[in-house]
Amino acid sequence: MMIRTPIQQQTHLIIAQEDPLQSPDLVRLKEKECLSLLQSCKSSEQFKQVHAQFLKLGLNGDPRRSGSLVAACALSDWGNMDYACSIFRQIEEPGIFEFNTIIRGHVKDMDFQTALLLYGKMLERGIEPDNFTYPSLLKACAHLSAVEGLQIHGHVFKLGFESDMFVQNSLINMYGKCGEVKHSFRVFEKMDGRSGASWGALIASHSSLGLWSECLRLFGDMSSEGCWRANERTLVSALSSCTHLGALDLGRCTHGYLLRNISVFNVIVETSLIDMYVKCGSLEKGLSIFHKMPNKNQLSYSVMISGLAIHGRGKEALSVFSDMLEEGLKPDAVIYVGLLTACSHAGLVSEGRRCFDRMRLEHHIEPTIQHYGCTIDLLGRAGLLDEAYDLIKSMPMEPNDVVWRCLLSACRVYQNLELAKIAGGKLFQLDQHNAGDYVLLSNIYAQAHQWEDMARMRKDLAQRALTQTPGFSAVEVKRKVHKFVSQDKSHPDSDAVYEMIHQMEWQLRFKGYIPDTSQVLLDVNEEEKKQQLSFHSQKLAIAFALIHTSHGSTIRVVKNLRMCSDCHTYTKLISKIFERSIIVRDRNRFHHFQDGTCSCSDYW
Ligand code: ZN
Ligand code: ZN
Repeated sequence: MMIRTPIQQQTHLIIAQEDPLQSPDLVRLKEKECLSLLQSCKSSEQFKQVHAQFLKLGLNGDPRRSGSLVAACALSDWGNMDYACSIFRQIEEPGIFEFNTIIRGHVKDMDFQTALLLYGKMLERGIEPDNFTYPSLLKACAHLSAVEGLQIHGHVFKLGFESDMFVQNSLINMYGKCGEVKHSFRVFEKMDGRSGASWGALIASHSSLGLWSECLRLFGDMSSEGCWRANERTLVSALSSCTHLGALDLGRCTHGYLLRNISVFNVIVETSLIDMYVKCGSLEKGLSIFHKMPNKNQLSYSVMISGLAIHGRGKEALSVFSDMLEEGLKPDAVIYVGLLTACSHAGLVSEGRRCFDRMRLEHHIEPTIQHYGCTIDLLGRAGLLDEAYDLIKSMPMEPNDVVWRCLLSACRVYQNLELAKIAGGKLFQLDQHNAGDYVLLSNIYAQAHQWEDMARMRKDLAQRALTQTPGFSAVEVKRKVHKFVSQDKSHPDSDAVYEMIHQMEWQLRFKGYIPDTSQVLLDVNEEEKKQQLSFHSQKLAIAFALIHTSHGSTIRVVKNLRMCSDCHTYTKLISKIFERSIIVRDRNRFHHFQDGTCSCSDYW
């Protein structure tokens, strides 16, 4: 026997009561029942049953009722666009409500072209758009291109909707998603009144392009205008700006605003908080939020695992991973990148090998080039160069420059000239003209006393006129991020910073520090090389922080490149001489310098 769901029982009731000679009152009553049934639909199957009732009662002739049918079918979570379209097509004279609904449905269904086509058809029929028409259309444009967006903006202007706040917010969003921040800003500037959503849209526009400092500036402006009811999306944008800038104090402030403005954090906000704390160097705070989270999803675990990985806490990353499996969550490719990185940074070779196997055999995830890269790095760091090379040869895809560079770095540490030549050759074949590779290989030749080859590398480098990506280091002092480029003299406090560098070096000399000039690429004399080294951005940032922060407080630096070995030695000594914890995030990982040592154990 068939078991009826409540809704089936109700429709059954209507069918049973049906009478060919219905009174108008009865029809009205049934119509009411039908409409309430429509609202309680939970699947497109249930909806089809209700639709059948509408047809049976002859209610479909009225465009208003058909409109509600289209809305329910197109916009509900269980929505069925094909079915919604078939009802829409049967409406003889669809009005603005029906058009808006079907356009919105297509946008929700990610069918953006059809949404725009329907808008065109609507105009052909002479139906005037209203302020509900544009937000969905602009959303569609955000996924297409700014060209369509500009056209729709033209219509908005012509038809006089330019001062409608919802439309304006949608315009800001659309331009932001199309990467046209200037247009976003122009719309924003013209607004008479701005809501939290307007600020949110503008901030999100900037964050999607990675304009983190601007993001935080806007966030500050927003607060000074007294607009504190920021939505979660805005706060998440602000948090990720702090994350990218490594601005821990600003991140803490944002966390404070969150606590004051939102009573219950959802999993997205909590995960962004963890990401911010961990990537700004405060791993413990990130861990404490993580452990207190009532509901964790796959992303929360992923963020925590890669956070532990970049701090070199491999064992803990593996234990968080076990917790995740115990909770019944499935790992994905990103989590395995985090795990392999964790093993590699902590030198956990057998654990790393096990992860690599488990990923394929147990979780059926095909390793990507990133997974191979991490594993080759792991083996290389452990000195298992032949095994690393064998793995490269067994890769199903063409190894990229990252993979060869991992091998080359390992060759330098373990002084393997033969493999270094192979890796270097492959790198140059790949046409990745990276100055660092020439330097690395020339250093390997120097180690092996092959001076001619070394000179050849240096010459090649000079002939190709390769320059490294300009390095910068950022340091946060009194909630303001200060950025220093190598050899930089543009900072207002520049004189004091260079004076401080002198003092630092004077003290370093007593500790036996000798500048490692092999890091300088330029073909200049030894004295000039030393000078070049002194003004690496990381040293400028640390000098600035030593001047402007109180004794004993932690200095946090974020830089865009991998730390050079000279800066590494230098920072270790500075941490001892000045009795400061210095935490540096470079392109690959965190280095916690304390009392003359670094958490990476000199392998990074
Ligand atoms: Zn350096
Ligand atoms: Zn280190």
